[in-house]
Amino acid sequence: MKALQYRTIGAAPEVVTVPDPEPGPGQVLLKVTAAGVCHSDVAVMSRPTDDLPYPLPLTLGHEGVGTVAALGAGVTGLSEGDAVAVYGPWGCGTCAKCAEGKENYCLRATDLGIMPPGLGSPGSMAEYMIVDDPRHLVPLDGLDPVAAVPLTDAGLTPYHAIKRSLPKLAAGSTAVVIGAGGLGHVAVQLLRAMTPARVIALDVAEDKLELARAVGAHEAVLSDAAAAGTVRQLTGGNGAQAVFDFVGAEPTVRTAAAVAGVEADIAIVGIGGAALPVGFGLLPFEVSVTAPYWGTRAELIEVLALARSGAVSVHTETFSLDDAPVAYERLHAGTVNGRAVILPNG
Ligand code: NAD
Ligand code: ZN
Ligand code: ZN
Repeated sequence: MKALQYRTIGAAPEVVTVPDPEPGPGQVLLKVTAAGVCHSDVAVMSRPTDDLPYPLPLTLGHEGVGTVAALGAGVTGLSEGDAVAVYGPWGCGTCAKCAEGKENYCLRATDLGIMPPGLGSPGSMAEYMIVDDPRHLVPLDGLDPVAAVPLTDAGLTPYHAIKRSLPKLAAGSTAVVIGAGGLGHVAVQLLRAMTPARVIALDVAEDKLELARAVGAHEAVLSDAAAAGTVRQLTGGNGAQAVFDFVGAEPTVRTAAAVAGVEADIAIVGIGGAALPVGFGLLPFEVSVTAPYWGTRAELIEVLALARSGAVSVHTETFSLDDAPVAYERLHAGTVNGRAVILPNG
């Protein structure tokens, strides 16, 4: 079968032919319908040799949906042809965090060498993929595969971050979304669907600001040195109650700190690597800063339900598997609006 692999440190990913995978006991073989292109992959492919935690070659793709093609020995509860989404942050299934459905925070994944598809294990940018356990599949139940696939990360990750801050986002509150890309433009919609907050989106690109407005942002502000002042003004000087930074670089975490109000939540979701110092007098009183990772299985089910209700609609652009390297180039260049989605089986 064909697969998109990151094979050489620093080089572009390549479309190659690899052996057809076969499901072992307890595993599920999926025929991949759609695979989402995440900026985290760009970050992975920018890491130097001594800083790459995954073995190469790596079949990319940590957002995947497909149809069940074959069941490994002992797998029950699924049938061939079932349309499913992959829950990506695989855990052990038995530790205290996994027992809560928080496989994204599995306490044993590292020790056991369990790695998510596309981030260590072979991912969804291939005609077929192996899912290690049927509990890592959620039925699509009528959702369009292309529209649904980004929800497994670009939907689930902001959903998880936003859910934690719901008590802060009462009527009259403000939520700030920094970076209106794949994750950010879904975050805007989730905030509108889940809270009465006023949503202010920031981005460096005018077309991303336009998309943010189109999907429900009340205000869209150019992310420059003046942005924090503008946001403060829009909040009557008090600042926002929650800030979601989908960039995580020096200038954006500084903006996040500058727009946060008293008791605000700041979630640094982007993996730009910048730090935000917390200490008395450094931030408004009782601001809490977190760096969340992905989301829980239950939250994926909730995000898909929200999409089924019509509250969230991901802006997508599709590419063939052969054109997947172009999708990554475009994402790197900042010219993907919404989420790029690869169709490995056409
Ligand atoms: P994307 O490229 O689709 O979106 C990033 C957006 O940020 C773009 O619209 C870009 O124009 C904008 N941007 C860049 N610099 C900016 C600045 N200074 N101010 C405001 N906006 C700016 O990327 P994505 O796939 O949505 O991923 C967003 C980030 O989240 C990446 O860092 C990715 O690695 C990370 N991520 C984290 C998790 C997690 O679990 N923590 C999960 C998925 C993705
Ligand atoms: Zn991702
Ligand atoms: Zn676990």
